[in-house]
Amino acid sequence: MSDYLVRAASNPTLRNVIKTVGLPTPAELARAEGPYQDRFLDAQTVLVGAGGRASAFNEVEKTLKTTGATVERSDRPRPRDDAKYDALVFDATGMDDVAELTALYEFFHPVARKLTRNARVVVLASLPSAMDNLQAAVAARAVEGFVRSLAKEIGGFGSTVNMLYVEPGAESRIAAPLRFFLSDYSTFVDGQPLTVTAGGPMPEAVPTTQPLQNKVALVTGGARGIGAATANRLAREGAHVVCLDIPQDAETLEATVGEFGGTALALDITDDNAPRQIADFLTEKFGGVDIVIHNAGVTRDKTLANMPEHYWDMVLSINLAAIVKVDAVLTGEQVINEHGRVVCLCSIGGIAGNRGQTNYGATKAGLIGFVERRGVTERERGVTVNAVAPGFIETRMTAEMPFGVREGGRRLSSLSQGGEPRDVAEAITFLVTPGAGGVSANVLRVCGQSLIGA
Ligand code: NAD
Repeated sequence: MSDYLVRAASNPTLRNVIKTVGLPTPAELARAEGPYQDRFLDAQTVLVGAGGRASAFNEVEKTLKTTGATVERSDRPRPRDDAKYDALVFDATGMDDVAELTALYEFFHPVARKLTRNARVVVLASLPSAMDNLQAAVAARAVEGFVRSLAKEIGGFGSTVNMLYVEPGAESRIAAPLRFFLSDYSTFVDGQPLTVTAGGPMPEAVPTTQPLQNKVALVTGGARGIGAATANRLAREGAHVVCLDIPQDAETLEATVGEFGGTALALDITDDNAPRQIADFLTEKFGGVDIVIHNAGVTRDKTLANMPEHYWDMVLSINLAAIVKVDAVLTGEQVINEHGRVVCLCSIGGIAGNRGQTNYGATKAGLIGFVERRGVTERERGVTVNAVAPGFIETRMTAEMPFGVREGGRRLSSLSQGGEPRDVAEAITFLVTPGAGGVSANVLRVCGQSLIGA
């Protein structure tokens, strides 16, 4: 469903009228089309800087070289008065003292008005829990408050600010997350931290284009919405995708997989024998699975006092119990291959809670517990387990909301608009690439920095 305010605000005359009546003027967001490109920052200028004895800076420079960007360093000549930057990258991993936080001000203040629209800003900081002294832990954690606040200041231009917490020793694993945050594939991810850890085997060395060649993916609830967008996207990066959905939706499911040459599996994930059937299907047909997207989910909203028991039971069994049961077989029997990738569809409602969603909120918070545990226990096999938490996404579900609720959901974010299913699909696709092997047990919000649960 398209957003009337984004369309109107792109017209200069209407934009002034909208401003005059006090409504937000959301920017048209730049979205990358098609599969990953190596030199996706060709003809763009990136300013880089660092504070303290930055440990990730070499890796930042090495990664930027692969993007085709023109790179300027803040410690060389001072930024020209007429300079414009498409992206800024600041490495704060060396800041081990609160006083050193001044370097953030010194780097960003002179260029805060020199950003293009839809600019990308990425800040790297050390992982606070891995710091061996209080000053360093406090300084590292302070960076997140800076990032989240700056994101709120520049979101009106369609620009985003995100950060990477880098565990000492994980510097060689930042390339893929850095490329993702710098690209227009991450357009609806804003004000968010991702943690890159050092444990487990090194991610496989793979090209940045077509990284999912020879991979087999399972997407539950793949007939429509976010699941279908994700399946399409994974297929475009080279994966063979099995889409699973309920037998009643077999026709839609067949049409969806027909778009990209995937395989349909008509099955209800709450059936008692579903875990067995899924495991046998993947083993017999493909010898295992590399990517599992637990996407199937439903809402049955009512305040707790008004909620019938079957609403509670249905949401709990589809959104949470079935996932844990399917995972027990796929993980327990190692149907998921080494270096596998698992992503759960969570929600900002599972982080912040939502009126009328005690059932849904419980399931989505439960999934956070799932990825936090599994993301660590599976590290030895190089398997990562993460969640994405969408905010307001323009789908059939949100189109049916009353006007006031829909407008609130759309506008209460730094980007003043809803996201699209493909924005969630992009975040999932990044998380399942081989290069994202340092990212596990993370919950990545895809919400335009929604104020809900901010
Ligand atoms: P959707 O209703 O468009 O698609 C969900 C799919 O899951 C449907 O095709 C449905 O048939 C399938 N499904 C439901 N029960 C199933 C079962 N028992 N077995 C197999 N398949 C089943 O929903 P969507 O908006 O694309 O949401 C996808 C996921 O993203 C869900 O987990 C949802 O909670 C989550 N999410 C969506 C939003 C949003 O704004 N749309 C926000 C936050 C989280």
